Amino acid sequence: MIHVGVNGYGTIGKRVADAVAAQPDMTVSGVAKTRPNYEAETAVRRGYDLYAAIDDRADAFADAGLDVAGGLEELIEASDIVVDCCPSDIGAKNRPVYEDHGTPAIFQGGEGADIADVSFNARSNFEDARDADYVRVVSCNTTALSRVIAPLEEEYGIEKVRVTLVRRSGDPSETGRGPVNDVLPDPVSIPSHHGPDVNTIFPDVDIDTLALKAPTTLMHTHSLNVTLEAEPDEAAILDLLADESRIFTIPETADIDGAGKLKDYALDSGRPRGDLWENCVWAESVGMEGPDLYLFQNVHQESDVIPENIDAIRAMVTDVDAAASIERTNEALGVGLESLFDARGDREAVPIDD
Ligand code: NAD
Repeated sequence: MIHVGVNGYGTIGKRVADAVAAQPDMTVSGVAKTRPNYEAETAVRRGYDLYAAIDDRADAFADAGLDVAGGLEELIEASDIVVDCCPSDIGAKNRPVYEDHGTPAIFQGGEGADIADVSFNARSNFEDARDADYVRVVSCNTTALSRVIAPLEEEYGIEKVRVTLVRRSGDPSETGRGPVNDVLPDPVSIPSHHGPDVNTIFPDVDIDTLALKAPTTLMHTHSLNVTLEAEPDEAAILDLLADESRIFTIPETADIDGAGKLKDYALDSGRPRGDLWENCVWAESVGMEGPDLYLFQNVHQESDVIPENIDAIRAMVTDVDAAASIERTNEALGVGLESLFDARGDREAVPIDD
């Protein structure tokens, strides 16, 4: 069993801990929190050993009635690997602590690429993280773009990628974020950081990205234009995407028009927290104009990076290969929403009597 510590138990950290607990070859050695809030209480109820991320706050946990097993140093000692899920830039401060213990660590996409030896996406560059001590799982947006770029690049070659990202302004629990009543170019200058971040996974792909921030919390929406080095038809593109285990091609018959229904579908399907680990690509949006591919996809920012963190652990501390790790992760979590639908995203509307 790989003993995995989780430092930072918020949106990403709590999902990583649950995903680790679901794996047959991993166990949660503990989770570190700064405050004894509701998330700390649920961590204890889920059976995770709780550690105080900041030593002099340990008393606050005792005052709140929550037992702690120790501080961050003790969590690192109890772990073969730590997944750092702290807010952006805190991971960089934590890295020397992991180094002092000789413990490998995974960082998240909010950190700069230079925090780690490797930026990681399981579908695209799993082997680059083999035996690495420090790995950064790229952001939710970069993860989703990598999952689409990898098969297109392999199958057809890519001349140019152009993406407009309409980003949710905050996660549902981030009550202080905005805008509340506006759509902001963010950043207003071009390109946004997302293109260069994709280049940490695909150094040779020519990509421009533009980003906006919208007053929603549920998901990001990407509008993609990929100029290919071939001219496949739409059915071939749909076949290619449908064969990707972490892409859900939304068929027309699903009657899903946006993030609200996607999340509702995830909840109806019994997904924990309504999580959608897969890119959600509208089959109807897939269009070819000569070599130019167009499509829309939605990305659940809170959860698409979770299976990637699990695969990064295996790349770093086991000899399991990419395909076996991805399959094991998918099976343990239940990744693969398309299983009941026509995975090819049939464009022919099925008549519905309603
Ligand atoms: P979050 O704020 O929801 O959770 C971070 C947790 O870390 C909080 O519980 C916070 O109290 C705790 N924390 C703060 N300082 C700490 C410290 N010194 N030691 C230990 N814990 C500390 O943040 P998040 O959304 O989970 O983001 C974590 C990382 O994941 C960031 O790099 C972020 O960019 C990245 N990420 C976030 C999303 C997303 O949509 N939320 C998606 C992909 C990647």
